[in-house]
Amino acid sequence: MSSSPANARPAHNHKILIAGGGITGLTAALALHQQGQDVTVFESVERPRELGVGINLLPHSVRVLHDLGLQDALEEISILTRRLSFYSEDGVKIWEEDRGLHAGNPWPQYSLHRGRLQMLLWRVAVKELGQDRLLTGHHLASFEQDENEVRATFVNRASGQTVGTYGGDVLIAADGLHSAARKFFNPDEGPPVYSGLMLWRGAIETEPFLDGESMFMAGHDEAKAVVYPIGGPEHQKGRSLVNWIAERPVDFDVSTADWNREASPEAFSEYFEDWRWDWINLPELFAKTPVCYEFPMSDRDPLDRWSYGRVTLLGDAAHAMRPNGSNGASQGILDCEAITQALSTESDVTVALERYQEERLEKTAVLTLANRQSGPERVLQWVKDRCDRSCVEQHQCVPQDELAEAANAYKQLAGFDRAKLTSLASATSD
Ligand SMILES: Cc1cc2nc3c(=O)[nH]c(=O)nc-3n(C[C@H](O)[C@H](O)[C@H](O)COP(=O)(O)OP(=O)(O)OC[C@H]3O[C@@H](n4cnc5c(N)ncnc54)[C@H](O)[C@@H]3O)c2cc1C
Repeated sequence: MSSSPANARPAHNHKILIAGGGITGLTAALALHQQGQDVTVFESVERPRELGVGINLLPHSVRVLHDLGLQDALEEISILTRRLSFYSEDGVKIWEEDRGLHAGNPWPQYSLHRGRLQMLLWRVAVKELGQDRLLTGHHLASFEQDENEVRATFVNRASGQTVGTYGGDVLIAADGLHSAARKFFNPDEGPPVYSGLMLWRGAIETEPFLDGESMFMAGHDEAKAVVYPIGGPEHQKGRSLVNWIAERPVDFDVSTADWNREASPEAFSEYFEDWRWDWINLPELFAKTPVCYEFPMSDRDPLDRWSYGRVTLLGDAAHAMRPNGSNGASQGILDCEAITQALSTESDVTVALERYQEERLEKTAVLTLANRQSGPERVLQWVKDRCDRSCVEQHQCVPQDELAEAANAYKQLAGFDRAKLTSLASATSD
C-alpha cells in the first residue's frame, strides 16, 4: 500500500466532518486526507462489522481506489471478474461479454464481499488518519451552519443521548439510504421508492462454477437470479465464496428497508425449483446457504440539489439507486473523487460543494432512472417476450448486435465504456 497522507499540501485546507463510515464515507475520508485535508469520520454503529454479501466495483471506480494505493489489498479480497453472462430461466445462454481487464480495460472489475471491503477501508483509514479520526457510536442527529462554520451534533443511536457537537468547515453526509441530512433538507420526501421487487441475498463457500471467476444473471422480470464468486481466502484454496441474489415481485412496506434483515429461503425457493443446470444447481445453492437476507429493492427519486452551503450529500445519501448494473458503490466512489478535487482546489467551500454537485448530480440522476428500467439486465425480459422456445444451444431470438448495443449503451451512460476508460488512462499517464 502506498504511503498516502498529508504528503500533498492542498491549495486550500479545510476541516471536514464526514457522517457515515460506509464505503463512500471512508473512501472520501482517504481521498481527502491524501490531499492533506483535515478529516474526521463519524459512524453511527458502535462496532463496524463485516455486513452484507457481494458487491461489484466497476473499472471507473477501481481507478479511484487504485490511486489511493489499495490495489494489492483489493486483489487479496476480490475476484477480478472475467465475464458476465445472461441466461434464460431454462439455462440457455443469451449473451456474454468479457469484463474488466479481460475486456481490455485499463482497470479490473472486482467482485467482493461488501463487508470485507468496508473493513479494509476502515483499517486503512485508521492507519492513515489515526484512530481518533474515526468516531464510532456517533449518529448524526442535527446540524446548523453560518458564514463561519457548520456544527454537527451526534447522538448514541440506541439511547438518543448526545455524544458530542463538532465544528468544521464542511459536513459531508455519507449516511446511506436513510440519510439524516437528506431528510433534514427534504422533510417531505418519505421512505425510499420501492421497486416492487424483493431481493434475497446470501453467500456460501462452495465448488467454483463456470470458470470460477465469472458472474451470470438468469431469468426475467418475474424471477431472476444473479450469481457471482467474491474471492478472498476461499478462492485461494481453490474454493469459491459464491454470492447469490434471487429476485421476485413482492408487496412490501419499504419504510423499514434494512440491508441486514434475515429471511428464509422458503419465501422464494419454489419459484426457482427447476433452475438446475449441468453447471450449477441453484435450489441447492440457496438451500445450503447458512444465512439469507431480504432487501426490498428500492431507490430514491433524483434530487435537484445536494449542496446547501457547507453541507452536502454523497453516495447513497445523495443518489441511492437500484443495484441493476452493479453501479451503486461505484458511483459513490466517483463522488468521492469529485468532491476531493473540488475541495482541494477551491478556497470557498460553498463554491466547492456547488461544483461537486454540478459534476455529479445530473450523471447519477440519469443512471438512477435508467436502473428503474432494469439497467443492462433488461435484455433478460426481451428474451422472455420474444422467444418461442425454439432456441436450444443459444438464444437467437434477439440478435447479438442488439444485445451488444444495449450493453454498450449502459456502459456509456454509467461512464465505464472502453473508450472512456482508455482516455482516462491516457490522461493519467500524460
Ligand atoms: C449493512 C449494509 C449491508 C449492505 N449490503 C450490501 C450488499 O450485500 N450488496 C450491495 O450491493 N450493497 C449493500 N449495501 C449497500 C452498499 O453498501 C451501498 O449501496 C454502497 O456501497 C454506497 O455506500 P454508502 O457508503 O453511500 O452507504 P452505506 O453503505 O449505506 O453506508 C452508510 C454508513 O453510514 C452509517 N450511518 C447511517 N446513518 C448515519 C448517521 N445518521 N450518522 C452517522 N452514520 C450513519 C451507516 O451505519 C453506514 O456505515 C449494504 C449497506 C449496508 C449499510
